[in-house]
Amino acid sequence: MKISINERAVLQLIGTGQATSQIQLARALQVRPPTVHGIVKRLEKSGLLTRDRTDRGKPGRPIQHFQVKRQGVVLAIEWLGSHGSAGVFRDDQLQGSIQRMDSPPVNNLDAALRYLRKIRDAALAQARLAPSDLAGAVLSLNALRAARERVFSSSVIPWIRQVSEQQFSDALGCECQFDLRAGWVVHELRARAAEKESCLVDLSVGDGVSAHWSSVDLQWGSERQYRGELGHVVIDPKGPICGCGHRGCLEAWASGPALRKRVDADVKSGIQTALAQVADQSPRELFSQLEALHLAGTDSYASTMAEEFLDRMAWCVSWILNVIGPEVIMLSGYGLEGRESWRQRIIQKARAWTLYGETADIRLEFPRLKQQDYLRELARSFKGLPIHAVNG
Ligand SMILES: [Zn+2]
Repeated sequence: MKISINERAVLQLIGTGQATSQIQLARALQVRPPTVHGIVKRLEKSGLLTRDRTDRGKPGRPIQHFQVKRQGVVLAIEWLGSHGSAGVFRDDQLQGSIQRMDSPPVNNLDAALRYLRKIRDAALAQARLAPSDLAGAVLSLNALRAARERVFSSSVIPWIRQVSEQQFSDALGCECQFDLRAGWVVHELRARAAEKESCLVDLSVGDGVSAHWSSVDLQWGSERQYRGELGHVVIDPKGPICGCGHRGCLEAWASGPALRKRVDADVKSGIQTALAQVADQSPRELFSQLEALHLAGTDSYASTMAEEFLDRMAWCVSWILNVIGPEVIMLSGYGLEGRESWRQRIIQKARAWTLYGETADIRLEFPRLKQQDYLRELARSFKGLPIHAVNG
């Protein structure tokens, strides 16, 4: 099919995410909505565009968003430090996946690349494909990079500062792209679009601690995302050193690895606790054991530690409610996700510190987005497949 200049412009805007609904496209191109409507209909009919999410937040007509259809095999990996997951997608269809693969502590690029190759090969084996079949890969790491900067930074994997994208591409044998979004939060908000929620904060405790947030502009139907580094608020200037270089950040106190370090040190100094049995396992196991001991109430060391942890989390929640005021706060990461007794306890504690907290509707929820859907969103964001390659 021959593509006109206007059609190419529409594909470009949608493909880069600058404008994904008809109203956004009309504003970006400065043309009347019926013109855009015609172009979008034609592109959709010829299979170059498909329907993406629908926003129903605004009274009146829901806003339909579109995405560019791309062909090829894309690998998506989410690697957060102590564990990761991966999916292989061909033309948007899942071919093989790894739900979770634990990783030993990774202190340098070589160890990270070894792990990434291992999870790549495991996912490809599920899909019965070889590395040479891959058109590209999208990696979501516990790192960030400012829009105009080339350098990564991360408090969880500080060594990534010296690393270039090219080194990942060379090691994985295909073009690697990095997901610079604030993790799940945008996708989770999209998944909740039907419920007219317009602002969501993701409070996450895992290998790091963060409070990313996203909001939907109801007039434009577009999302904004913000990286919330609540984990780097200093709570104790004399506390342990954080990966960011400061001393006593919340992350250096409450993250999985930080918790493990504390338990290790306390056990060595002679403290009696059942947590000693899981101190050498993954930080996720440590959190699960901590929650179980807290519920049982039989281990005074664990109970005190859990209550302190929940106090900190309640402080985070009240801070988020007082300053940002989202409709929902999502509890994610292995330190919080799915821990129902802790969710209730945090709400209880946060009431005391939140404005009108005694009567406020404090909504703490776990993520609804499935791991596989998140990986699919990552794969979809791969820009390496040229638009004109679609339809052969
Ligand atoms: Zn820090």
